[in-house]
Amino acid sequence: MTVPVTLAVLGASGDLAHRLLLPGLGTLLSTNPEYDVTLVGCATDPLSHDEWVARVREALGGQCHKSSIERVIATTRYEQLDLTNPVALRGLLKSLGDSPVLYLALPPRVSMAVCKALTTLEIPPGLRIALEKPFGSDLATARELNEVLAGLVPENQLFRIDHYLGKSVVINLLGLRFTNRIFEHAWNNQNIERVDITVDEVLALEGRARYYDGAGAMRDMIQSHLLLVLALFAMEEPPSLNERDVRDLIALMLRHTHLWDGNPVTSSRRARYAAGTVAGESVPNYVDEPGVDPDRNTETLAEVTVRINTDRWAGVPFRLRSGKALGDARNGITVVFRPVDHVPEGFTSAPPNVLSIGMKPANIRLGLSTNAESNRFELNQSVLSTDLAESPLKPYGEILDSIFRGDPLLTVRGDVAEECWRIVEPVLDAWHQGLVPMDEYRAGGAGPARWNL
Ligand code: NDP
Repeated sequence: MTVPVTLAVLGASGDLAHRLLLPGLGTLLSTNPEYDVTLVGCATDPLSHDEWVARVREALGGQCHKSSIERVIATTRYEQLDLTNPVALRGLLKSLGDSPVLYLALPPRVSMAVCKALTTLEIPPGLRIALEKPFGSDLATARELNEVLAGLVPENQLFRIDHYLGKSVVINLLGLRFTNRIFEHAWNNQNIERVDITVDEVLALEGRARYYDGAGAMRDMIQSHLLLVLALFAMEEPPSLNERDVRDLIALMLRHTHLWDGNPVTSSRRARYAAGTVAGESVPNYVDEPGVDPDRNTETLAEVTVRINTDRWAGVPFRLRSGKALGDARNGITVVFRPVDHVPEGFTSAPPNVLSIGMKPANIRLGLSTNAESNRFELNQSVLSTDLAESPLKPYGEILDSIFRGDPLLTVRGDVAEECWRIVEPVLDAWHQGLVPMDEYRAGGAGPARWNL
């Protein structure tokens, strides 16, 4: 049985559509050939039909069976439209076929204008709307966007995309925690001393100044991805994997989350890369990168420490950090357990257990103290390690699958988006006022020397 879907990609000539969304569709169609997708691309670029088809073929290409590609190619079309124009938008809505999905892969200000224009139009029944991050640029704009969206379709037809939720390892945190007795019973402040959630990238700006210089590491990574990972790591057990059950508990966990000592100045650090060498390539000072406006004072490395005000987590610092142009790529969660209360006399003291959950690559490593080979009374750290299964779908394949099935589990509910802004906004304000120094680190290095990374 085929499942018809009309997918209108608004912003079809952009980087996200070409590099992530259409290849994600390719992986989805190769594993789920039952989807019969009519793909409509829209942007202001004057693309001919043949140019559009060539782009779609290339983007789906490597991922997808030939027959699935040909089915999409046979029906796809491109419309050159200014989507902020309600007349053009009305025409598009009227032309959409079965199970319509509007996927807004647009710059944030254009997304807002499109959503406002949609409020003046007749919405086709069952329309699903997917929006790319960022959801607003602060709490006030996120609220405004949510209010506009609420006037369009019900919340369960809205899909605020955060592709971290499409990573199988992220949602699998729930399986790891709630189905393994050895973990869930140790998952509290009695046993865990601190938790680090880190995404360090080796890549520098890579020509993305237009987006990144207006966002920075805090907005780009911590406000969205890392706070969601934190919530899944720390939340209470959901009654089921139903979207409402899981997203209620994500929202609740974030409502309990606050800056470590309530003070944005002492709970955060920021830095920017200076010229250096990354993976053998010279990288200029961030402020000298093409398209960067030094007056924006954008950070390329951000760190914030938060606490979770619950009995389970009181006193445990959660440190969230992300940066660009660093020497080593690190992408995962490090859980440092408390040392045991007592070590039998005669042993050297035991190193603490450390659990590392890698998000890219997806793996688990558990550091255990074991007797040393050379001396039975000495303790060493041995590491148990396993790679985790990853979905054959890329994150955007998972996300499109959830949109096509109408299940928003892997997307961000409106209140969750607002909570994330509520947590980081005092830090952004303090940074804006210059209350936290902008440290510097050499591109390709470990981070600012005084951070002791
Ligand atoms: P781009 O600037 O590369 O693309 C934007 C797209 O929007 C282009 O196709 C552009 O078409 C179209 N567009 C802009 N204004 C209009 C308009 N008035 N009417 C019709 N089309 C319009 O941006 P990205 O693809 O990089 O990003 C899109 C969204 O995805 C952003 O919200 C971004 O934050 C988010 N995102 C991007 C990621 C990435 O890696 N690129 C990762 C995660 C999220 P044209 O050029 O023809 O005007």
